[in-house]
Amino acid sequence: MLCRLHSAIKSASPNIKIVAFVATKMLFGIACSFLTRIYNMMVLFMRLHIRKVAQYQTVRYYNVPLSPSNEMRLGLLKRKTMVLDLDETLIHSHHDGSYQPVPPKTPPDFVLRVTIERRPVRFFVYKRPHVDYFLKIVSQWYDLVIFTASLEIYGTVVADKLENKKSIFQRRFFRQHCAADFNGYIKDLSMISPDLSSIFILDNSPSAYKWNPDNAIPITSWFSDFHDTALLDLLPMLDALRFTNDVRSILSRNLHLHLLYSTK
Ligand SMILES: [Mg+2]
Repeated sequence: MLCRLHSAIKSASPNIKIVAFVATKMLFGIACSFLTRIYNMMVLFMRLHIRKVAQYQTVRYYNVPLSPSNEMRLGLLKRKTMVLDLDETLIHSHHDGSYQPVPPKTPPDFVLRVTIERRPVRFFVYKRPHVDYFLKIVSQWYDLVIFTASLEIYGTVVADKLENKKSIFQRRFFRQHCAADFNGYIKDLSMISPDLSSIFILDNSPSAYKWNPDNAIPITSWFSDFHDTALLDLLPMLDALRFTNDVRSILSRNLHLHLLYSTK
């Protein structure tokens, strides 16, 4: 059949030869685009699968019940407040047209539609791995407060999504509550509580807590690594921190880390 076709083309006029050449090229193009689509679908499926496994891997910090003596010790201490940053600490997001450090075609955990300066903007939000488990555990140990330098219209919806109708954030603070300097926005913890012995912040940006460095836990900025375990890794330390009288006695020992994290 192919031999006949080949000899037919060979004996055909130049115009028919050109048409046959163009048709062959088109068929080749269609086949290539079909194969590329199949390849992209396979890559997307693999990414989704890898992410699912990373999110639900059996790495867990078991929140075992306290002994009666530890329960009594904890009862004598004031319940502490944990302040949480959002962007690059608990989540990462990008909006229409912005730079996307996440691998292309990775589906977001949720999409927010907000209007900023009369313009509709879509935010594609990715949750840091293990954030749901992290919030579930630390909300049992601390009063949780959100403090983001982002706009309220965006921060409110992200916090609502993270809460998932469970009301785990006692209070929320946004850009308008930050102090501004030439380096960005500063989060003043004394505005949330004058008692600095019982409050601390988890934030990827050391400049945000430069007025309260002894009340801060540094964490690496998260953008797209779906194997990240930074939140899980903090749980043993956070479990112990609630037993201290003054969080500064422990967290001031971390000051060298702040410098390290600020370079990332
Ligand atoms: Mg941040």
